[in-house]
Amino acid sequence: MKTVSDYFGCLVFDDRVMKANLPAKVYQSLRKTIDEGAKIDISVANAVASAMKDWAVANGATHYTHWFQPLTGITAEKHDSFISPSPDGGVIMEFSGKELIKGEPDASSFPSGGLRATFEARGYTAWDPTSYAFIKGKTLCIPTAFCSYGGEALDKKTPLLRSMEALNKQALRILRLFGNEDVKCVRTSVGPEQEYFLIDKEMYDQRRDLRFTGRTLFGAKPPKGQEMDDHYFGVIKPRVAAFMEELNEELWKLGILAKTEHNEVAPAQHELAPIYTTTNIATDHNQLTMEIMQRVAAKHGLVCLLHEKPFAGVNGSGKHNNWSISTDSGVNLLSPGETPYENAQFLLFLCAVIKAVDEYQDLLRISVATAGNDHRLGANEAPPAVVSIFLGDELNAVLEAIENNTPYYGAEKTQMKLGVNVLPKFNRDTTDRNRTSPFAFTGNKFEFRMLGSSNSIACANIMLNSAVAESLKIYADRLEQAENFEDALHEMIRKTIKDHKNIIFNGNGYDDTWIKEATEQRGLLNYRTTPDCMPHLLDKKNVQMLTSHKVFSETELKSRCEIMLENYCKTVTIEANTMVDMARTEIAPAVECYVQELAKTVAAKRAVATDLTCSYETGLMKKLSVLTDRIADKTEELESALVYLSELDDTMAAANMIRDEVLIRMSELRLACDEAETLTAKKYWPFPTYGDLLFGVR
Ligand code: ADP
Ligand code: MG
Repeated sequence: MKTVSDYFGCLVFDDRVMKANLPAKVYQSLRKTIDEGAKIDISVANAVASAMKDWAVANGATHYTHWFQPLTGITAEKHDSFISPSPDGGVIMEFSGKELIKGEPDASSFPSGGLRATFEARGYTAWDPTSYAFIKGKTLCIPTAFCSYGGEALDKKTPLLRSMEALNKQALRILRLFGNEDVKCVRTSVGPEQEYFLIDKEMYDQRRDLRFTGRTLFGAKPPKGQEMDDHYFGVIKPRVAAFMEELNEELWKLGILAKTEHNEVAPAQHELAPIYTTTNIATDHNQLTMEIMQRVAAKHGLVCLLHEKPFAGVNGSGKHNNWSISTDSGVNLLSPGETPYENAQFLLFLCAVIKAVDEYQDLLRISVATAGNDHRLGANEAPPAVVSIFLGDELNAVLEAIENNTPYYGAEKTQMKLGVNVLPKFNRDTTDRNRTSPFAFTGNKFEFRMLGSSNSIACANIMLNSAVAESLKIYADRLEQAENFEDALHEMIRKTIKDHKNIIFNGNGYDDTWIKEATEQRGLLNYRTTPDCMPHLLDKKNVQMLTSHKVFSETELKSRCEIMLENYCKTVTIEANTMVDMARTEIAPAVECYVQELAKTVAAKRAVATDLTCSYETGLMKKLSVLTDRIADKTEELESALVYLSELDDTMAAANMIRDEVLIRMSELRLACDEAETLTAKKYWPFPTYGDLLFGVR
């Protein structure tokens, strides 16, 4: 039997394959490009392309594609075969360096937020050699960035790579100040924990809401939900176990480090966490993971739901973005070091993150904003929409001592003085007790917990990397000029703590009193919905910061803001239309059928004995008639709101109207329908119920 280590990464053109198949010179040159971002030479590209093609063909591939991440949120690919006619009537398999480096997909149908006029329909894709090529099905997939001909980014990878470069540049300046001359490159790493639901495909097929929108738009509470806490970490059911086994195999073949799997809080909910890796690779891998989850589920007669809130009243799904900064020599800069000097360095990086999160709370909120995620944030199952940082008691005490110039008695009972004492190692147990914080320090990394399960992790990490790069830049500018480095360092750490301690909160983030305190006393931002936060992407301070680090141009930001708002509007409009349709053509008729049966029963009974009251049937018929009237009214109201909405030209106005009107009418319609469900005989109900869906997979 083949073991995992035999087949791990067998579909990846990884370092092992490169080393074995490339001439030594070409390999070294490519490594330099991967490790240090050196420009690639066409002769090297040709040699790599040829080796890549031979390897792919030997592994069954017939096509290649530039694989990219347009702003639709999913990945895109256009397949070209390797074949090229030969004079003898046959074909040879060809792939050139030029084809490897650059592609020209017709990009006019991808969202550009007005960036690319249609006469300029072409965009181009550019190879990202830092993320390995891989084979999917019969296609060699080459990870690429996607830009317009004017050079504007039309994807998520380009700004992500730019943000990683911005952070690298500023972090290196800081490390040099600490006398570290050897580090060549600083990178962020991410381990994203992915939550998802698995439901039965046959039941899924019977629900138009799930098929069109990825979530249920109707559904009364089942008699049993998640109140018994019997699902979390529970025994994995055989069908789910078979799915997980095949999923792991597929992921491992693609070199994805799938590590942990378990049942989540809600029935039918599960989680998968990979081992962390460099952020842009983690991003590619997470996109692939989501895609493969859906494909493998289908093979098992299941559907994998990645929506943030597939079921009302049941926990939604998120994605925890575990993030750290480390050097190419393997030092985690968010881990307290072995020497006092390293500790000072750790504290500076820690402060950089605190400052960044406080000053760019809005960008972090924006980076996770979607119609789906709006259902989770602040709903007592996910962090609130208010961003705050959890540090844990120990680290908090250290920061307080520094701020107040008071002694800190750590584990060793020694007084803490910056640059003299060694910090205690913060162990996970003491730092990771709080699960309600949006942004928690967990010993040697931060866990950003606001991401939705379907979000690309690129957006969150772009903002995080950029904001931290900005803090580091301000520090480096100051420290490079300082007469006394240690004094300046100490002062700056103190100042950061003083200025930004408002963002630090170690209590229960789900508590209503916290939201009050956060907004009223601390002045933290609370953008509850996507239309609330999105316009702030274009606030002057945000544009200034993101453009100064060359992560986005102002035009790119404007287009992204437009696209995100458009996405929000389209998503909710489709949901609302689906509701109108289902209420009118499925729910109301089903209730009517049941009422008719009741009426027949009454007639039959009275034929036997005229004096029967039939109060059960008539009472129920009355209740249901009131409900069908209400369903009809609420459907009309929602529909007229949609008509009004369709007449609005301005995306922002449309998004605001959705927030203030459409969503409210949707929940009113739902309420009437869900009540009708609880009164209607099961056999009349036109689609599977929550109970069927949530407990249907065994
Ligand atoms: P949890 O208790 O949140 O489930 P885990 O220990 O399972 O925590 O880790 C969650 C994720 O954090 C995993 O994907 C893991 O690889 C990742 N992780 C661990 N260390 C780091 C690090 N230094 N940087 C980034 N991610 C990390
Ligand atoms: Mg976690």
